[in-house]
Amino acid sequence: MNKKVFEALKWASSFLSGSGRDENAGELLLRHFTGMSRAQLFANLREEVTPAVWEAFEEAVREHGQGMPIQYIIGTEEFYGRSFLVNEEVLIPRPETEELVSGTLERIERLFSGRHGLVLADIGTGSGAIAISLKLEIESHRVSGTECPRGADKCPRRVSGTKNGTQITGTDISERSLVVARENAARLGAEVEFVQGDLLAPFMDRGVKLDVVVSNPPYIPVGDIETMSEVVTEHEPHRALFAGADGLDFYRRFMSELPRVLAPAALVCFEIGAGQGEAVAELFRDSFPDVRVEVVNDINGKDRMVFAEIGFGM
Ligand code: SAM
Ligand code: GLN
Repeated sequence: MNKKVFEALKWASSFLSGSGRDENAGELLLRHFTGMSRAQLFANLREEVTPAVWEAFEEAVREHGQGMPIQYIIGTEEFYGRSFLVNEEVLIPRPETEELVSGTLERIERLFSGRHGLVLADIGTGSGAIAISLKLEIESHRVSGTECPRGADKCPRRVSGTKNGTQITGTDISERSLVVARENAARLGAEVEFVQGDLLAPFMDRGVKLDVVVSNPPYIPVGDIETMSEVVTEHEPHRALFAGADGLDFYRRFMSELPRVLAPAALVCFEIGAGQGEAVAELFRDSFPDVRVEVVNDINGKDRMVFAEIGFGM
């Protein structure tokens, strides 16, 4: 006898709670395999699921029970209103990072209004979520400063084929992450260049000057691995997570490399770990005499972003 939708959901929720996982994951997985929305699923609770769907669903629920993140099973995660491909070569983009993107867009609008040909970089791009979202949001003209003055349709294709002259490069230490980022950019129609390299080396090598640097670098202290969920530590790439004893290694490296690549007036936007805000703000103040630095909390009230405006005057 084929299982009904409600039976499948009931089995998943008791199986998952038995393995200490979120019981609601079953609903997400069943929606994935049936292609139904939440409303459709609940309108069809007494319908049967096909044997093929049941088989795939059961296997996925068991896999999640063993700690595999749902996003890697489904193969996608939503970020800033778009669907991004993910696999075990990239960090699953987090909702906190959407706040980094919106904070960056607001500041670009305020600081660079009317400027064309902005040069941006997303360092440690992973799935490309930050770089691609910034590119598409700026292109959709929600950031007015970067619009073509003669209207989008008349704007000549300028820097590397971009419509409004905003050039975005995403970098990563891992070529395997960049394969995912490039596929996301192609699927979402974002013209972003992806380059392999160690932190800011690709820009130092080319002598490029950056107006905006955005990064969600690894920031977890290595010792925290003991207390973290195995869903994260056994599946997400450690190169995306850990950064030395205090989690600040990458910010320290940024301070020594940034002066070589920043334009005279530049914006730097970092995601940080909760509790790191003051330390990262201090690193900026020690390295740049003319910096305005802001530590910003996320919606959960944790310090999560540091924005540094350098060379705009005090
Ligand atoms: N930007 C993505 C996001 O927000 O979802 C991924 C961020 S993940 C926390 C950090 C990324 O930095 C990983 O993709 C990792 O491969 C990359 N990374 C680690 N060390 C790096 C280095 N030395 N230079 C460049 N990227 C690095
Ligand atoms: N926010 C991620 C986590 O808590 C960490 C990402 C990072 O180190 N930048 O798992």
